[in-house]
This record gives sequence, C-alpha cells and structure tokens, in this order.
Amino acid sequence: MDPKGKRMLGVFAHPDDLEFAAGGTISKWIEGGAEFYYLVCTDGSLGTTDPSKSRDDVSQARREEELNASRVLGVKDLFFLNHRDTELMPDSSLKKEIVRYVRMLKPDLVMTTDPSAIYYPSRMRLNHADHRAAGLATIDAVFPLARKRSAFEELEEEGLAPHRVSEIYITNSESFNMVSDISGTIEKKLAALAEHKSQVNELALERVRGWAEDLGKKTGKGYAEGFVRIIL
Ligand SMILES: [Zn+2]
Repeated sequence: MDPKGKRMLGVFAHPDDLEFAAGGTISKWIEGGAEFYYLVCTDGSLGTTDPSKSRDDVSQARREEELNASRVLGVKDLFFLNHRDTELMPDSSLKKEIVRYVRMLKPDLVMTTDPSAIYYPSRMRLNHADHRAAGLATIDAVFPLARKRSAFEELEEEGLAPHRVSEIYITNSESFNMVSDISGTIEKKLAALAEHKSQVNELALERVRGWAEDLGKKTGKGYAEGFVRIIL
C-alpha cells in the first residue's frame, strides 16, 4: 500500500493504545506522505494507581502525553470524545460520533483495535473492555453507517455527506493477515511511547521492542507490527 497522499484515521479507546499497537507503522506511513488523524474515545482517567490524583488530573495529563506522542509520530491532528474511562459502550450514540469524524475527515483508511478479543490465547492476557467497544463501534461506523445516506440523516443536514472508507486495519489481533516492517521507525515508536510518562517505563519500552523483534523474527523482518487488513 502506497501511503502517499492518503488520509488515515485511527480510532481507539485510550491515549497510548495506537502507539503501543501501531506506532511504527503510523510513523512509516506519515514519512511516506500520508496524513494521519487520531480520534481518542475515552478520557483515560483511570490510568493511574496513585490515589492522590483526581480523575481530572489524570485525564489532563494523559491528554498532554497523547499530544506529545502524536507530535513525535507526525500525526496531523487529534480529537477527543472524552467518554469516561472503562465505561465505553459500542452503542448508537458512540457510532454516530465516529461517523461524524469519518464524514468530516474523509479518510481512505481507518485503523482501530480488535473488538473480538476478550483474551489473547498466546499470552493468556485479557483485553480491555474499552478496546473492544472502540473497535466494534468504529467498524460499524465505517461499514455500513458512514456510507449510508439514510443513516444518521441529521448529519447530512449538517453538511456531512456519506463517505466510503477503502480499507480498515485492525490492531491487537492474533489472527493478522498483514505484517508491517517497522525496522526504520521502531525508535520513533519507542520515542512516542516514552511520551506517555504516566504509563510506561524503560522496562515497558524494552518489552514493546521485544514484541516487535519477535514478530520480525517470525516473519523475516527486523521489527514488525501485525494487522488484520480488510479491503472494503
Ligand atoms: Zn488502552
């Protein structure tokens, strides 16, 4: 896929989700001439173990961190829906919010997290409910809602005409069908992740490097990220 001139939108639950899953690929595409936008669904306000911090403090800090991380990768702009962390529901109102951004930004490609995984068998780790909700609402918003004239008619009255996304990339799936070589951008991915100062430490960064290296070894690349790629 030639990223030159493409518009891309990543929709995800928490600040840091896409840097963890796809920071190397996003950076590579931006370097290749794509315009990438972020839509963050929650306020990330439960992302702390420090009882002295209020939800507002945590949310504000994480928003700043995501702004800084997105700058490292070269993301064009980012938007926050500010739903409460851990309470995201893939309901009609969330789908409508996402359709609004899809119709406003008119991306060729949308990236989101895998909604089907309750747990990951290979590592026996649970998936976060917000990741499932963000992924499901986004997939439904892209297909069929954003392209249907009769869906959310009030959006069209606001001037937001139907839009057809050409392909969707799903992150955090163990059944990926596309492997992206991120050997040239692994350092940028880690630098972006390091901006999430409240969430990651050196150990976490090394773990992320290790995952990318392991997938690279299995697929004949230096460092890699995996996706389910669906052409619409
Ligand atoms: Zn998350």
